[in-house]
Amino acid sequence: MKGIAVKIGQKGAFLTEVMPPDKPVNEQVLLKTLYTGICGTDRGIINGLLNFARPEADKDLLVLGHEGLAQVMDTGEKVKSLKPGDLVVPIVRRPGKCIQCKIGRQDNCEDGDFVEAGIRGKDGFMREYFIDEEEYLVKVKDKNLGKLAVLTEPLKNLVKAYEVYQTVSNRSVKTCSDGSYWCKKVTIIGAGPIGILFSMLFITHGFQVTLISRSDKEGVASNICKRIGADFIQEDAIKIDVKSLISDIFVDTTGRPEIVGKGLQALKYNGVEILFGTTLAGNINITGEMLTEAVEKNITVFGTVDGAKQHYVEALNYLSMWKEIYGNLLEEIITDEDVPEKSVEALNGDGKGEIKRIIRWS
Ligand SMILES: [Zn+2]
Repeated sequence: MKGIAVKIGQKGAFLTEVMPPDKPVNEQVLLKTLYTGICGTDRGIINGLLNFARPEADKDLLVLGHEGLAQVMDTGEKVKSLKPGDLVVPIVRRPGKCIQCKIGRQDNCEDGDFVEAGIRGKDGFMREYFIDEEEYLVKVKDKNLGKLAVLTEPLKNLVKAYEVYQTVSNRSVKTCSDGSYWCKKVTIIGAGPIGILFSMLFITHGFQVTLISRSDKEGVASNICKRIGADFIQEDAIKIDVKSLISDIFVDTTGRPEIVGKGLQALKYNGVEILFGTTLAGNINITGEMLTEAVEKNITVFGTVDGAKQHYVEALNYLSMWKEIYGNLLEEIITDEDVPEKSVEALNGDGKGEIKRIIRWS
């Protein structure tokens, strides 16, 4: 059967024959892949930029793919919650042995002793069929979501980020005087799928949202912002005067240190900066003035990665709600879709002109 894999240490992904799975036993579930998404992490692995990428212990190749949507084909005799025909989103990160991992919070793993499907130490979902454990599958109850459910994996990261925001902002009164968030300004930098989904998430909770991006691929970000009631500015945030960026919450999805530094200066008292982008490139000088201001203003800066099973469940609920409210609007994020044979070339490309590319497996 077909799969898309990389050989670590060698640039480029390729279509290859992979071993078909055996019949599922015990808590195992046999799955047919319907869709996989492509994101910056995949391209980072393909281009050898992520030094943590590695195949399974005894293997030569790593099957890619961590954003998946699959259909249950068969189940082991101990599987209780799933039956053939059900749709599921598989969880990416699998626990190690630390206390966080032991309680199902491998997203907060303390020692890095976890594996991640399609990224490190575990084959991913870019293959026609795979076997997984019931415990690591999140059921898609709303079948109307269709391929949109492939956005669950990236969105679950933001659901966690929002939860962390709520936790850290409890240090002071975090709402407006009527108990809602209408007066709170959120600035989000970067109009990839993450920036767009962050905008939708904060709008859903009643915040004022401005999404800023150098590019507006196919006008999707500006159109979505218009529909949901967010502002969109097409400009490099670096070039915008910091006074115009004054916010209660500043979200960086670009990983550009200059932007993160600017965000620090743009925050109001008790402001929160959310670090979400990763590029490994660039640097900034943190001045004493910047530090003093951050201290005097009670500024909180936090990084956040991955999400727990609960965040997958909540992400699916957000997607269903947005589909109900906005109809097919979310589908605009999926700008490119193709079969595996035709996706490999795009996977090896730079992703320019795409917002979210997905691969259709069956
Ligand atoms: Zn751990």
